[in-house]
Order: sequence, then C-alpha cells, then structure tokens
Amino acid sequence: MTSAARLAPFSDLLPVDAILTSESTRAFSCGGLTPQYVLFPDTVDLLRSCMRAATQAGMSVMVVGTGAGLGLGNAPRQYDVAISTRRLNRIVAHEAADMTVTVQAGATLDEVNAALAHAGQHLPLDPPRPELTTIGGLIASDASGPLRLSHGKVRDRLIGITVVLADGTLVKGGGRVVKNVAGYDLMKLFTGSFGTLGAIVEATLTIRPCPERDTLLVIPAADTAGALTLALKILAAPVMPSYIEAFNASASAEVGADHRARLMIGCGGHADEVSTQHARCAAHAGEQPLQVHEGVERARWYAALRDWPSSGLTADLENALGAKLSLLPSQLATILPRIEQEAVHRNTRCAILARVGSGIAYVRLIGADAAHVMPVAAWLRTTARQAGGWTAFDRVPAPLRAQLDTWGEAPAVSLMRGIKQTLDPQNRLSPGRFVGGI
Ligand SMILES: Cc1cc2nc3c(=O)[nH]c(=O)nc-3n(C[C@H](O)[C@H](O)[C@H](O)COP(=O)(O)OP(=O)(O)OC[C@H]3O[C@@H](n4cnc5c(N)ncnc54)[C@H](O)[C@@H]3O)c2cc1C
Repeated sequence: MTSAARLAPFSDLLPVDAILTSESTRAFSCGGLTPQYVLFPDTVDLLRSCMRAATQAGMSVMVVGTGAGLGLGNAPRQYDVAISTRRLNRIVAHEAADMTVTVQAGATLDEVNAALAHAGQHLPLDPPRPELTTIGGLIASDASGPLRLSHGKVRDRLIGITVVLADGTLVKGGGRVVKNVAGYDLMKLFTGSFGTLGAIVEATLTIRPCPERDTLLVIPAADTAGALTLALKILAAPVMPSYIEAFNASASAEVGADHRARLMIGCGGHADEVSTQHARCAAHAGEQPLQVHEGVERARWYAALRDWPSSGLTADLENALGAKLSLLPSQLATILPRIEQEAVHRNTRCAILARVGSGIAYVRLIGADAAHVMPVAAWLRTTARQAGGWTAFDRVPAPLRAQLDTWGEAPAVSLMRGIKQTLDPQNRLSPGRFVGGI
C-alpha cells in the first residue's frame, strides 16, 4: 500500500506528521490491541473532524493523552484509531485572583503547574507521574494521589468542561467562574468516564496557593496494623495533615527503605501551622522515632507515595497484579493485615500502600505465577465486598487479562448504559473498557 493510501481516511484533515501508522502506533496499544492510526490534531475543530471521519467510517476510537495509563481498565472490544490530545496543550486562561485555570486537555499536570508557579499557585491534584498525565486523562480516569485527603479529587475542582461527542458535536458544561451551577453537571458525568462518552478537550479548574512550608514525617511501626492504628489516632486529632499514608514492610522495601511498616504524614501550610502539626504528631507517636524530611529527601519520599500505584518502580511491582480497594478508613486496620496473612498462606508476597484518610489501599500481589495470585485476588474482591467496599484491579499482567474483570459488579449499570446509548449510540468510543462492558 502506498503511504498516501495508508493515511487515506485522515490525509485530507491532518498533515503527515500528525498521523502515525504501522509499527509506530504500538506505543498506544491497549489490552493486546494496536490501533491502525494515531492522530494528533492541534485544534479543537480538527479533533472534531477526526472524530467525525473515524466514527462515520465505522471505526472504534480511543481518545488518549500520552497513552501512559492505558493499562488501566478493561481491554477494548475493538480499537482502530487513537486520537491524542497531546498537541492541544495550551493554557487558555489563568485567573490568579479568582484562583482558576482553563487549560486544553492535552497539557500535562507538570506543564500546568509550571505555568501557575510564577503566581505561587498550583493545581493540588497529584496522580502518579505528573509529567505523563494529561488533564484530559486525569479527568477521564478520575486519577488522584496523596493530596486527595486535604484537597479533594478532580471532580471537586472541575468547574467547567468542553467535550467532543462521537459525532463531532461540541458540548460545554459549567463555566470559568467558581459560582456557576446552571445546567446539567457534565463535569461529574465525564469524571471517570474512561473515554467512553466523548473527548474532553478543555477544562476549567480551581487552584490553590502553594504551601509556604512543606514537610514529610516518617514514623516506623512494628507492623501494618500498628501503622494504621496510629494513623487513625492522628486523623481523629486536630492535626489536619495534607496526607497520611502507610506502607507495609514489603512496600517499604520496594522503595528502598528497610523492611518495616511505616507511616508517612504530609504537613503543609504556613510555617507556624507546620510546626504545630509536627508537635501534635510527635505527641501521638510517643516513644516511636519520628523523622522530619524537607527539601530533596521530602521530595523523594513524596514521589514514592505519589507514583507507587503506577508501579514502574521495581521489576517485581511492574509484574505484580494490582488491586485498588476502597473501604471505610476505620476498616483498613483490620482488613489489610488479613490480606497480608492470606497472601502468606498462598505463597504470595503482598506490598501495600494505604491512603489511610481516604480509605484507599493499593495492594500489589507478587507471586511466582497466575496460579498463586489469582486465588488471592478473588478472595480480596469478596472480602472487600463483604465489608461494604469495592475493588478495581488497576494492574493486570497480560496473561491474566482475559480472566479478570477490572471493575467487577457495579451498581447502577443500567443507568450508565442509558447514558452511553444517548451520547454514543453506535458504541464507537472505547467499547468495552468500562464497568459492565460499556
Ligand atoms: C505510567 C502511568 C501508570 C499509571 N498507573 C496507575 C495505576 O496503576 N493505578 C492508578 O490508579 N493510576 C495510575 N495512573 C494514573 C492515571 O490513570 C493517569 O494519570 C491517567 O491514565 C492519565 O494518563 P494520560 O493522560 O496519558 O491518559 P491515557 O493513558 O492516554 O488515558 C487514560 C484513560 O483516559 C482516557 N482519556 C485520556 N484522555 C482523554 C480525553 N481527553 N478525553 C476523554 N478520555 C480521555 C483514555 O481513553 C483512557 O481510558 C498511572 C499513570 C501513569 C502515567
């Protein structure tokens, strides 16, 4: 096939350097499928035209940012074209006095924060790998990090959104000012939609001042239950940490620390506030040694906490089966030690990071093979459900993908199907990636 014929469906729309074909599309593979085309429109109008051309030609489209997080979610049923937002990366407006920013969806979190830094402000959302995470991908995957405890998640900060539907229609919700509540809440609808409803092309978010002082306390504990119990005590006290997280012994070892469970507490704000927080945490820690990290050491620990779910830190974590559990914070101290025991019983190693104040635990099961980890994974989903919680498998090694549904059973699936049917009646966008095969 000539190169012109290969580019045919999109050659009238985009220049040659904005279309990838053949081998070079592999970087955007998802669930074992590789798209025929990867498109990089650099205006919203071009993205609309690409979307319309692809869906009218009967192709399945996945909207992507950098494509770095495509391991999350179920494999798509069909995947012909990836439309990347990466060249839609402008900061549209920064209203420093109103503390809002409007950005195109392909800007990475690092790019947005670099643009806000001159005003001493930042977007306090910290999912793994901010240099690779685009604003559109962050919203679509409802990604979060340690700061969700003190600053909420992306839907709490999102006040306006612009999306392109499967037929190329442009839809706007919310606005650029904090007080706007008219109309349907498209911001919440598109948060966590995993590319199944439309392409997010622009977002307006509220921002915050950067803290004057930022520290990270580390308190080693005898075991996982000890670290979690201390965390819950501190959370009940008037301390207000930025985040409070626990590694079990195995996870501590994965980030290069000694093989002991430990609690990590973020303290940020005015210098006086931070000193008060240190004193109160020290009072709760009692005899246990408390290390205070600032500067480079703080940044190293913080990056380990933030990036840990992305699991590229060690070869063991890269190949692990990963589960994200959502439970009541008070249940973590009983359920996580039980998971460790069950893993030992099944000859599986288990590394855990708990976002204690948010009731989230990232569990990584490291076994010799699928036969070892699959029974622990099944047990884990049942145990979380019995406790009224929820499990999503956020890292599934390729050989296990066909056996494990990322999401499991979810409430209100028929309602979600109705929304999907209304916005994407021909099921062209990321088919099968989401809950209930949506
Ligand atoms: C390397 C890496 C590994 C990660 N691993 C984990 C993990 O294991 N667990 C975890 O909880 N978080 C993880 N995250 C965090 C989170 O999922 C990512 O921040 C997110 O995937 C964003 O990456 P991206 O912008 O490249 O989006 P992509 O990876 O390109 O896309 C992620 C999802 O969002 C959709 N999407 C992307 N852009 C848009 C858009 N503009 N409009 C509509 N839909 C869109 C895609 O279709 C896809 O379903 C990881 C992030 C990275 C970078």
